[in-house]
Amino acid sequence: MSLDAQTLIDWFAKTARDLPWRRPECTAWGVLVSEIMLQQTPVARVEPVWHEWLARWPKPSDMAAASHGEVLRAWGKLGYPRRALRLHAAAQAIATDRGDEVPHDVDTLLALPGIGAYTARAVAAFAYGKKCPVVDTNVRRVVARAVHGAGDAGPPSTTKDMNDVEVLLPDEKAAVYSAALMELGALVCTARTPRCADCPVFDTCKWQLNGRPAYDGPAKVVQKFAGTDRQVRGLLLDVLRGTSEPVEKVRLDAVWSDAGQRDRCLDSLLVDGLVEQTAGGLFALPGEH
Ligand code: SF4
Repeated sequence: MSLDAQTLIDWFAKTARDLPWRRPECTAWGVLVSEIMLQQTPVARVEPVWHEWLARWPKPSDMAAASHGEVLRAWGKLGYPRRALRLHAAAQAIATDRGDEVPHDVDTLLALPGIGAYTARAVAAFAYGKKCPVVDTNVRRVVARAVHGAGDAGPPSTTKDMNDVEVLLPDEKAAVYSAALMELGALVCTARTPRCADCPVFDTCKWQLNGRPAYDGPAKVVQKFAGTDRQVRGLLLDVLRGTSEPVEKVRLDAVWSDAGQRDRCLDSLLVDGLVEQTAGGLFALPGEH
């Protein structure tokens, strides 16, 4: 078996990073916050913000009582700030409809606003020890290599990817196994230079046994940052986070010279509810005017 459960669980017990959301005392709410933050941001940047959030908003109802502006301010520079509003919407639903307790089962989690297929399963597994396939980019890559013998994972397919992982899950300690698969992909079976010499499943890895064939699937889209709308949106939000008063447009205009791109980004922030315009035509974080 190419991704033997006991081998990976033993490896994880010896080598896993000590992350605060993995500790036994971490609440399900803490796990949910970590999963949303970690989706597009590395652990090192998430950890300090996660501590601040859990100290400030230890329960969903605490965060539900905060304004969108406060939440966006606290999100800081984690990027992809719509995640902060998704988390806020989920916190409100949990506080109002679920007795302030993060649901246990995948279907109820999926019914919350802003919680997708990955997050629902990650919370069920890591907060409550449920057996369900938790598939992120790292897991897809490990399975593509170790099980299918390919150089990398092809385009994502939620159904196929989850089926691929579901058949691997052991009956006992499935959630630990899921965490181990993710850790293996994050630390050892990395995208560019996998550290195969340190890999606990080296002997059974099909990619090794196949002679390490090159990836021959469709080209991957490499996400750049410099010059993108994402960068410009971040710069515009930085201005609003840096002040407690609504600002004139001229303050926002100063952050980017391309007026067309700048205005498009400001429009998209308004549409996404990340920025609001006052009656007097000034700009502010939502709920802060
Ligand atoms: S042996 Fe290398 S390619 Fe195979 S699972 Fe381990 S790190 Fe990945």
